[in-house]
Amino acid sequence: MKAEPVHQRRLLDVQDLDTALGRVAHRRRTMPEATQVQELDARLSELRDALAAADTALADIDREQRKAESDVEQVRTRTDRDSRRLDAGQVSSPKELESLQSEIDSLRRRQSELEEIVLEIMERREAAEERRSGLQRELEEATATRATAEERRAAALAELKAEESELQQQREQAAAEIPDDLLALYTKLRDQYAGVGAAALRQGRCEGCKLALSTAELSEIRTALSDEVVRCEQCRRILVRTPESGL
Ligand SMILES: [Zn+2]
Repeated sequence: MKAEPVHQRRLLDVQDLDTALGRVAHRRRTMPEATQVQELDARLSELRDALAAADTALADIDREQRKAESDVEQVRTRTDRDSRRLDAGQVSSPKELESLQSEIDSLRRRQSELEEIVLEIMERREAAEERRSGLQRELEEATATRATAEERRAAALAELKAEESELQQQREQAAAEIPDDLLALYTKLRDQYAGVGAAALRQGRCEGCKLALSTAELSEIRTALSDEVVRCEQCRRILVRTPESGL
Protein backbone atom coordinates (compact mmCIF):
# COMPACT_ATOMS: atom_id res chain seq x y z
CA MET A 1 0.00 0.00 0.00
CA LYS A 2 1.12 3.54 -0.75
CA ALA A 3 0.45 6.70 1.26
CA GLU A 4 2.08 10.11 1.49
CA PRO A 5 4.54 10.33 4.44
CA VAL A 6 2.52 13.27 5.78
CA HIS A 7 -0.59 11.09 5.83
CA GLN A 8 1.28 8.25 7.46
CA ARG A 9 2.47 10.60 10.21
CA ARG A 10 -1.02 12.06 10.57
CA LEU A 11 -2.21 8.49 11.16
CA LEU A 12 -0.12 8.52 14.35
CA ASP A 13 -2.27 11.45 15.54
CA VAL A 14 -5.40 9.42 14.84
CA GLN A 15 -3.87 6.56 16.82
CA ASP A 16 -2.98 8.84 19.75
CA LEU A 17 -6.52 10.27 19.76
CA ASP A 18 -8.07 6.79 19.60
CA THR A 19 -5.87 5.71 22.51
CA ALA A 20 -6.93 8.81 24.46
CA LEU A 21 -10.58 8.09 23.65
CA GLY A 22 -10.09 4.51 24.87
CA ARG A 23 -8.69 5.83 28.14
CA VAL A 24 -11.67 8.17 28.56
CA ALA A 25 -14.07 5.27 27.88
CA HIS A 26 -12.22 3.17 30.47
CA ARG A 27 -12.41 5.98 33.03
CA ARG A 28 -16.13 6.28 32.30
CA ARG A 29 -16.63 2.57 32.97
CA THR A 30 -14.57 2.67 36.17
CA MET A 31 -15.50 6.05 37.63
CA PRO A 32 -14.87 5.93 41.41
CA GLU A 33 -17.77 8.38 41.77
CA ALA A 34 -20.11 5.84 40.14
CA THR A 35 -18.78 3.04 42.35
CA GLN A 36 -19.46 5.19 45.40
CA VAL A 37 -23.05 5.80 44.29
CA GLN A 38 -23.50 2.04 43.78
CA GLU A 39 -22.09 1.30 47.23
CA LEU A 40 -24.37 3.89 48.79
CA ASP A 41 -27.37 2.41 46.96
CA ALA A 42 -26.53 -0.99 48.46
CA ARG A 43 -26.18 0.61 51.92
CA LEU A 44 -29.52 2.43 51.51
CA SER A 45 -31.22 -0.79 50.54
CA GLU A 46 -29.78 -2.54 53.63
CA LEU A 47 -30.94 0.33 55.84
CA ARG A 48 -34.44 0.28 54.37
CA ASP A 49 -34.67 -3.47 55.03
CA ALA A 50 -33.39 -3.00 58.59
CA LEU A 51 -35.89 -0.18 59.14
CA ALA A 52 -38.77 -2.35 57.89
CA ALA A 53 -37.63 -5.13 60.27
CA ALA A 54 -37.46 -2.59 63.13
CA ASP A 55 -41.02 -1.46 62.33
CA THR A 56 -42.23 -5.06 62.40
CA ALA A 57 -40.47 -5.66 65.71
CA LEU A 58 -42.11 -2.53 67.18
CA ALA A 59 -45.55 -3.59 65.96
CA ASP A 60 -45.02 -7.02 67.59
CA ILE A 61 -43.99 -5.40 70.87
CA ASP A 62 -47.02 -3.08 70.72
CA ARG A 63 -49.30 -6.08 70.34
CA GLU A 64 -47.56 -7.86 73.21
CA GLN A 65 -47.88 -4.75 75.38
CA ARG A 66 -51.60 -4.34 74.68
CA LYS A 67 -52.16 -7.99 75.54
CA ALA A 68 -50.18 -7.71 78.80
CA GLU A 69 -51.98 -4.49 79.79
CA SER A 70 -55.33 -6.10 79.14
CA ASP A 71 -54.27 -9.05 81.34
CA VAL A 72 -53.40 -6.63 84.13
CA GLU A 73 -56.74 -4.88 83.67
CA GLN A 74 -58.66 -8.16 83.94
CA VAL A 75 -56.91 -9.17 87.13
CA ARG A 76 -57.41 -5.69 88.58
CA THR A 77 -61.15 -5.81 87.80
CA ARG A 78 -61.45 -9.14 89.56
CA THR A 79 -59.47 -7.93 92.55
CA ASP A 80 -61.66 -4.82 92.80
CA ARG A 81 -64.82 -6.89 92.59
CA ASP A 82 -63.61 -9.26 95.30
CA SER A 83 -62.46 -6.37 97.48
CA ARG A 84 -65.85 -4.69 97.16
CA ARG A 85 -67.55 -7.92 98.21
CA LEU A 86 -65.25 -8.14 101.20
CA ASP A 87 -65.74 -4.48 102.17
CA ALA A 88 -69.47 -4.65 101.75
CA GLY A 89 -69.52 -7.48 104.27
CA GLN A 90 -71.38 -9.73 101.79
CA VAL A 91 -69.41 -12.71 103.02
CA SER A 92 -70.62 -14.22 106.24
CA SER A 93 -68.99 -17.59 106.76
CA PRO A 94 -65.36 -17.52 107.97
CA LYS A 95 -64.47 -20.21 105.44
CA GLU A 96 -65.79 -18.15 102.55
CA LEU A 97 -64.06 -15.10 103.98
CA GLU A 98 -60.79 -16.92 104.14
CA SER A 99 -61.20 -18.21 100.62
CA LEU A 100 -62.03 -14.73 99.31
CA GLN A 101 -59.09 -13.20 101.14
CA SER A 102 -56.80 -15.85 99.72
CA GLU A 103 -58.14 -15.23 96.21
CA ILE A 104 -57.52 -11.50 96.60
CA ASP A 105 -53.95 -12.19 97.77
CA SER A 106 -53.33 -14.48 94.86
CA LEU A 107 -54.83 -11.96 92.41
CA ARG A 108 -52.60 -9.22 93.80
CA ARG A 109 -49.52 -11.42 93.35
CA ARG A 110 -50.66 -12.19 89.80
CA GLN A 111 -51.23 -8.48 89.10
CA SER A 112 -47.79 -7.62 90.34
CA GLU A 113 -46.26 -10.34 88.13
CA LEU A 114 -48.19 -9.06 85.13
CA GLU A 115 -47.15 -5.49 85.84
CA GLU A 116 -43.54 -6.67 85.88
CA ILE A 117 -44.14 -8.16 82.44
CA VAL A 118 -45.60 -4.87 81.20
CA LEU A 119 -42.54 -3.01 82.50
CA GLU A 120 -40.21 -5.47 80.83
CA ILE A 121 -42.10 -5.04 77.54
CA MET A 122 -41.92 -1.26 77.87
CA GLU A 123 -38.16 -1.48 78.33
CA ARG A 124 -37.87 -3.61 75.21
CA ARG A 125 -40.10 -1.14 73.39
CA GLU A 126 -37.81 1.72 74.36
CA ALA A 127 -34.76 -0.19 73.08
CA ALA A 128 -36.57 -1.05 69.84
CA GLU A 129 -37.61 2.59 69.37
CA GLU A 130 -34.04 3.73 69.93
CA ARG A 131 -32.83 1.22 67.38
CA ARG A 132 -35.47 2.39 64.92
CA SER A 133 -34.62 6.06 65.29
CA GLY A 134 -30.89 5.23 64.98
CA LEU A 135 -31.62 3.48 61.68
CA GLN A 136 -33.81 6.37 60.57
CA ARG A 137 -30.96 8.79 61.29
CA GLU A 138 -28.49 6.59 59.41
CA LEU A 139 -30.89 6.38 56.48
CA GLU A 140 -31.24 10.17 56.36
CA GLU A 141 -27.45 10.60 56.50
CA ALA A 142 -26.87 7.99 53.80
CA THR A 143 -29.55 9.60 51.62
CA ALA A 144 -27.81 12.97 51.92
CA THR A 145 -24.39 11.39 51.24
CA ARG A 146 -25.83 9.67 48.19
CA ALA A 147 -27.19 12.96 46.85
CA THR A 148 -23.74 14.55 47.18
CA ALA A 149 -22.09 11.50 45.60
CA GLU A 150 -24.60 11.62 42.76
CA GLU A 151 -23.73 15.28 42.15
CA ARG A 152 -20.04 14.39 42.06
CA ARG A 153 -20.73 11.50 39.70
CA ALA A 154 -22.74 13.74 37.35
CA ALA A 155 -20.00 16.40 37.42
CA ALA A 156 -17.27 13.83 36.71
CA LEU A 157 -19.34 12.35 33.91
CA ALA A 158 -19.97 15.77 32.36
CA GLU A 159 -16.22 16.44 32.48
CA LEU A 160 -15.44 13.13 30.79
CA LYS A 161 -18.11 13.73 28.17
CA ALA A 162 -16.67 17.17 27.39
CA GLU A 163 -13.17 15.65 27.11
CA GLU A 164 -14.51 12.87 24.93
CA SER A 165 -16.34 15.21 22.59
CA GLU A 166 -13.23 17.42 22.25
CA LEU A 167 -11.10 14.35 21.40
CA GLN A 168 -13.78 13.05 19.05
CA GLN A 169 -13.74 16.32 17.16
CA GLN A 170 -9.95 16.30 16.82
CA ARG A 171 -10.08 12.69 15.76
CA GLU A 172 -12.63 13.41 13.04
CA GLN A 173 -10.47 16.23 11.71
CA ALA A 174 -7.33 14.09 11.65
CA ALA A 175 -9.11 11.07 10.15
CA ALA A 176 -10.61 13.24 7.38
CA GLU A 177 -7.08 13.94 6.15
CA ILE A 178 -6.15 10.24 5.82
CA PRO A 179 -6.80 8.41 2.54
CA ASP A 180 -9.62 5.89 2.82
CA ASP A 181 -7.56 2.76 2.09
CA LEU A 182 -4.94 3.63 4.73
CA LEU A 183 -7.62 4.45 7.29
CA ALA A 184 -9.44 1.19 6.53
CA LEU A 185 -6.24 -0.82 7.01
CA TYR A 186 -5.53 1.04 10.25
CA THR A 187 -9.05 0.42 11.57
CA LYS A 188 -8.82 -3.29 10.75
CA LEU A 189 -5.44 -3.64 12.48
CA ARG A 190 -6.53 -1.53 15.46
CA ASP A 191 -9.54 -3.78 16.07
CA GLN A 192 -7.35 -6.84 15.64
CA TYR A 193 -4.42 -5.75 17.81
CA ALA A 194 -5.74 -4.43 21.12
CA GLY A 195 -6.57 -0.93 19.96
CA VAL A 196 -3.21 -0.19 18.33
CA GLY A 197 -3.14 -0.27 14.50
CA ALA A 198 -0.30 2.14 13.78
CA ALA A 199 2.95 2.78 15.62
CA ALA A 200 5.97 4.99 15.18
CA LEU A 201 9.39 3.56 14.48
CA ARG A 202 11.49 5.21 17.18
CA GLN A 203 15.23 4.63 17.62
CA GLY A 204 14.99 1.39 15.69
CA ARG A 205 12.16 0.10 17.88
CA CYS A 206 8.49 -0.49 17.00
CA GLU A 207 6.37 1.50 19.44
CA GLY A 208 3.54 -0.95 18.89
CA CYS A 209 5.17 -4.15 20.15
CA LYS A 210 8.16 -2.37 21.77
CA LEU A 211 10.55 -4.75 20.01
CA ALA A 212 13.80 -3.61 18.37
CA LEU A 213 13.95 -4.26 14.67
CA SER A 214 16.80 -6.36 13.28
CA THR A 215 19.54 -4.74 11.22
CA ALA A 216 18.14 -6.44 8.13
CA GLU A 217 14.62 -5.10 8.80
CA LEU A 218 15.99 -1.61 9.40
CA SER A 219 18.02 -1.64 6.24
CA GLU A 220 14.96 -2.82 4.28
CA ILE A 221 12.92 0.09 5.68
CA ARG A 222 15.77 2.50 4.96
CA THR A 223 15.70 1.56 1.28
CA ALA A 224 11.89 1.49 1.02
CA LEU A 225 10.25 4.42 -0.74
CA SER A 226 8.92 7.08 1.60
CA ASP A 227 5.33 6.56 0.39
CA GLU A 228 5.50 2.81 0.96
CA VAL A 229 3.31 1.78 3.94
CA VAL A 230 5.65 -0.33 6.04
CA ARG A 231 4.42 -3.01 8.47
CA CYS A 232 6.21 -4.28 11.59
CA GLU A 233 7.51 -7.82 10.97
CA GLN A 234 6.83 -8.72 14.62
CA CYS A 235 3.38 -7.30 15.32
CA ARG A 236 2.07 -6.60 11.78
CA ARG A 237 1.05 -3.06 12.71
CA ILE A 238 1.58 -0.10 10.38
CA LEU A 239 5.07 1.18 11.15
CA VAL A 240 5.39 4.93 10.58
CA ARG A 241 8.79 6.49 9.93
CA THR A 242 9.53 9.72 11.78
CA PRO A 243 12.64 11.91 12.12
CA GLU A 244 13.37 9.95 15.35
CA SER A 245 13.26 6.55 13.67
CA GLY A 246 17.04 6.10 13.84
CA LEU A 247 17.36 5.06 10.24
ZN1 LIG B 1 5.75 -4.10 16.20
